Amino acid sequence: MTHVGVVGAGVMGAGVAQNLAHAGHTVALVDRDPEAVKRALAGIGTNCRMSRLLGGPETDAEEVLGRIEADSDLSLLADAEIVIENITENWELKRALYLELDTVVRPDAVFVANTSAIPITRLASLTRRPRQFVGVHFMNPVPMKPAVELIPGHHTSSDALEKVRGLLGSMGKKAIDVNDACGFVSNRVLMLTVNEAAYLVYEGVASAETVDEVFRSCFGHPMGPLETADLIGVDTILYSIEVLHEHFGDSKYRPCPLLKHMTDAGLHGRKSGEGFYPYGPAAAPAVPAT
Ligand code: NAD
Repeated sequence: MTHVGVVGAGVMGAGVAQNLAHAGHTVALVDRDPEAVKRALAGIGTNCRMSRLLGGPETDAEEVLGRIEADSDLSLLADAEIVIENITENWELKRALYLELDTVVRPDAVFVANTSAIPITRLASLTRRPRQFVGVHFMNPVPMKPAVELIPGHHTSSDALEKVRGLLGSMGKKAIDVNDACGFVSNRVLMLTVNEAAYLVYEGVASAETVDEVFRSCFGHPMGPLETADLIGVDTILYSIEVLHEHFGDSKYRPCPLLKHMTDAGLHGRKSGEGFYPYGPAAAPAVPAT
């Protein structure tokens, strides 16, 4: 059993906390927004109670929630052995957080960055512990996805990497080792695809439904790129393609204006209740306990 800190209780942080607590770890969950903390705990409780119906194992919601302590104060993370950061994909926000985390969290703890695109070496350089800094690109919904990308930074020690690999194993995750590069392997490809799919809608070439149907019916993909955008978060897609654009300085990553417009309008996908598709009240997908 490891005592794990989780920062950010949005789509990813809530999933990471649920997965960790179900695996028997104790979790300190922190989000600066108290409402996000409340939503995450409520969502985890519902997912556990519905686990059997969702095709997962019988799960005692009270037992899982009993392993999670949650607050909006970073000091809750002071004793964590590993801290997994899942805040908004924004360099300035992550920069300010890591500077603070470095002083709050015990010096021997390992930091894990769950980012869609920001290079791990760049994030690690913000801290006084670049040897104890590892990238893990979790997939969404976290409890249901069997694999992650595991990314060492330039200075990451093998001890830190293996400690994180061990934690991932206990969560039922296969770690796929990839080198540190903006967007890693998955999002170098996926973000371009989703951005280009958004351009098709923006230019009036096809509706979101038609774009997605082509991918489902012609390629046999379980979800089209715009349904995927709604699941990930339209804002997160925009921020990730902006990180790629800034990093490579290559116009192939120019963000589609429709993504900007939707982000400004609060059409963030399932988590806000509307994105390329309507979902009704904020509809984070229900996910079983593992
Ligand atoms: P989200 O918008 O659902 O949640 C982000 C949370 O971070 C919010 O609740 C916000 O209040 C909180 N936050 C922001 N600044 C903070 C701070 N300084 N301290 C504490 N909390 C803070 O975003 P998400 O989808 O959960 O993404 C989180 C990270 O995971 C991002 O870096 C994203 O790129 C990455 N990621 C997302 C996905 C996905 O499918 N959504 C997949 C893999 C990785």
